[in-house]
Amino acid sequence: MRIRVVVLILIVLASVNCGYPQKYDSQQAEILTFNVLLNGVIGGIGGAINKSKEEKLHVVLAKNFLIGCLGGSVKYLAKYDAYNISYDHALGANQRFSWNAWMDRFLYYAGHSIVCNASLNKKPWESFQINLYGINFYYSITDSNHFQPKLSLYTLGALIKFGLDGNKFDLKNSLNYGIYYFDVNPKDHGFRCGIATYNVIALNESCQGTTNNVSHEFIHGFQFADYFPISLYAYKPLKNFKSQKLIKPIDRYVIFDIPYQYLFYVLQPKPWHYKNYYEYEARHFAIRAHVER
Ligand SMILES: [Zn+2]
Repeated sequence: MRIRVVVLILIVLASVNCGYPQKYDSQQAEILTFNVLLNGVIGGIGGAINKSKEEKLHVVLAKNFLIGCLGGSVKYLAKYDAYNISYDHALGANQRFSWNAWMDRFLYYAGHSIVCNASLNKKPWESFQINLYGINFYYSITDSNHFQPKLSLYTLGALIKFGLDGNKFDLKNSLNYGIYYFDVNPKDHGFRCGIATYNVIALNESCQGTTNNVSHEFIHGFQFADYFPISLYAYKPLKNFKSQKLIKPIDRYVIFDIPYQYLFYVLQPKPWHYKNYYEYEARHFAIRAHVER
């Protein structure tokens, strides 16, 4: 009986692999592992820093590591699903309006919220947050249903920068994707297919098609958010500072979202495409095929 079960499992696993070259599978396993472990480590360390005196370090560390891994798995699913947000692969054309990007964003932020809660040593479902158009909507289930929107300074800065660079704002696509969407300045068309920051992307229409560029830039946006829970490490140490008269109202309505990911990005080996992990990851999810590095 046991042998039959093992054989059945092997057949199922083998059928999952069908149709993909082995190399793609190993890249998939590598990127899944990275996403799960990165969030596990971020959650575990944050949870340990924000633990109470009575709690045992190794218990808190292990618990929040596992919660972080769970959040990382959800984020991975959202990144994987980003493949479908802009391009209808069956039709072979860009989609008009669809809810795919919005649904995908909610899924990603469900994972992000779990990792944030792990970093604060809270229960996985204690609060939910989502950033839409540079406003971070935070909702706490346990804290008297506390709801707090905050302005993302980094998004505001990116919006100004994209405008100054001569990119053209595209309202229709901004509504479609739940993100600020620009068309790349025609002067840059020769060397740029797309550019992304946290909540702002710019696309070069002439590059659209099978490269699935919108999904690629969308993934870059998520990569910024991947590292934001690091800021929660300072939650306890900064508690007194944030309660000061001058700081309190600013802290209530503004987020100083520090783009840690940018630092990790520029430290990568060159040429960036696709030796750079973040470019490799964005490409991997955008085309769902083996990426030559
Ligand atoms: Zn890229």
